[in-house]
Amino acid sequence: MNAAPDFLRSAVSLLYPPACTICSAALDHGEYLCAECESKVQRIVPPFCAKCSEPFHGAITNEFACANCAHRKLHFENAVSAYRARGIVRHVILNFKYGRQIHLRHLIVRWLVAALDDERLCDRRFDAIIPVPLHPARERERGFNQAALLAEWLSAHLSVRFLPALQRIHYTTTQTAFDRAERMRNLRGAFRLRKKADVRELRVLLIDDVLTTGSTLSECARVLKKAGACSIHAATAARA
Ligand SMILES: [Zn+2]
Ligand SMILES: [Zn+2]
Repeated sequence: MNAAPDFLRSAVSLLYPPACTICSAALDHGEYLCAECESKVQRIVPPFCAKCSEPFHGAITNEFACANCAHRKLHFENAVSAYRARGIVRHVILNFKYGRQIHLRHLIVRWLVAALDDERLCDRRFDAIIPVPLHPARERERGFNQAALLAEWLSAHLSVRFLPALQRIHYTTTQTAFDRAERMRNLRGAFRLRKKADVRELRVLLIDDVLTTGSTLSECARVLKKAGACSIHAATAARA
């Protein structure tokens, strides 16, 4: 799981010159997508919901709650994503998560860093970066926790402490088939603070790969706040 040593990477790149992750077009070193594929990546642009980043069409003239946030309490201050989890972005994230293509984290991390440039996050200071945990059985099955890989990289990049303070205690079935109310019920009690983890007074940046409805991030935020964290902001590489 560790990145290949540099000499090995240069040897590999001689054998396999860098190519676009999607269409295999030749690329410069350090690039992952060709210009054409890059142009198809969907950026989230205003207007969008300040709380959950859900974009929508039309001009917004006054305060509103988007359909995703209306009639429920979300326990994070806001959840920021800069890209839509569609098309190429979705494809890359699925290959990273389920296809064991761990090298794709370099590309996904760029999308996550774009979220941190958002004005809702860029001037904030954080004391800890906490990944959304996977259930241990699922992590064994997958070989890694994608959120933890992204959070660890970010922690090194920002020099903010990586703190895997949460534990997933219910092996919930895949959430995608559920509506929002079912997801929230399904998640209640799914997370707890790890033994000896201390999050009191911490300003937390919570990390996941994709935000779908925000229920998972909200439930994690609820547990962290109950344990004494003073604020929870969330960032994901993409948003459904
Ligand atoms: Zn391409
Ligand atoms: Zn919203």
